[in-house]
Amino acid sequence: MYNSEAYKAVYDRFEMRRIKKEKEAEENRKKAVAAVPQIETIDAKLVALATEAVRKSLGNEPQSVKKRAVRELKEKSVELQAQKIELLVTGGFPEDFLDEKYSCRRCGDKGFVNGKMCDCFRKELNRECYMRTKLASIIEEQNFKNFDLDYYDDEMIPEYGRSARENMKLVLEYCKEYAKNFSLSSPNLLLTGQPGLGKTFTSSSIAKEVIDRGFYVLYDSWQTILARMENAKFKNSGDDVSDILGCELLIIDDLGAEFKTQFSESALYNVINTRLVAKKPTIISTNLMPEELSETYHERICSRVLGEYTTIVFLGTDIRLQKLQRASGRKKKKAAERQQTR
Ligand SMILES: [Zn+2]
Repeated sequence: MYNSEAYKAVYDRFEMRRIKKEKEAEENRKKAVAAVPQIETIDAKLVALATEAVRKSLGNEPQSVKKRAVRELKEKSVELQAQKIELLVTGGFPEDFLDEKYSCRRCGDKGFVNGKMCDCFRKELNRECYMRTKLASIIEEQNFKNFDLDYYDDEMIPEYGRSARENMKLVLEYCKEYAKNFSLSSPNLLLTGQPGLGKTFTSSSIAKEVIDRGFYVLYDSWQTILARMENAKFKNSGDDVSDILGCELLIIDDLGAEFKTQFSESALYNVINTRLVAKKPTIISTNLMPEELSETYHERICSRVLGEYTTIVFLGTDIRLQKLQRASGRKKKKAAERQQTR
């Protein structure tokens, strides 16, 4: 069975998209009618024809008469549709301007066909459940509540004009606000800094909050995203990778750890650029500092990331190492105590 929260989130998302599409369709119709008023007359005729067809087919006349009448009405309707398209084109609109455009033809983006879950819904639900478990395992260890600022140095870093602890406090505040107010006009973020300073934790916390607010978020390491794109392109894996470009928030973890090839560079450019053009926010987290980024990737990638992303620098000393050192320190202390009591 599916996780009910994940199910609800996906269900709400389908609903939200449907409403948005209906609104767009309504607006397109208004535009078309304003420019070409005859369209309204044709639409009224089309409705009348459809009603007439139903009335005829329910009537008492012999079957053959009914059939012929309905066929004639259909022909008239096709003629009117053609007239409508002609009017649209003369009015300067594309001929499919008033057609309903679905990403899934099977269910018309409703997510269900005759009460049964459509594949497109199931796919999104699977990914949602997977994401939730994946994020859950990260968040369990670290989350905003048990985040310990004590691991960050209090010593002022002249280069940044603040200590690592002050810096992390600001980063946390910014990211909490970002997640709370996330929308499609939110900025793109570049989280950069040495390993073990809480970048993954911060980005996964943002992911969780934004998912809970009903947005379609994709969160994964760049290596995994890249592998999916590669398999889809070269191995015909059948994996639908449209979510990478199409999701509302893409969080790329650990950029720079991948094996670099011509394909990986062009895939990265494609993802970054397409999402920028489509105005869909992306968060990139990387151990590379901005200057290292320029040494690692092509200029057309760097100029977009450094020019269009808000850079957030993580400062401090590797927390995982500190934890290990503290743990081994405790062990040594205990061993020393045991020695003494002997
Ligand atoms: Zn479908």
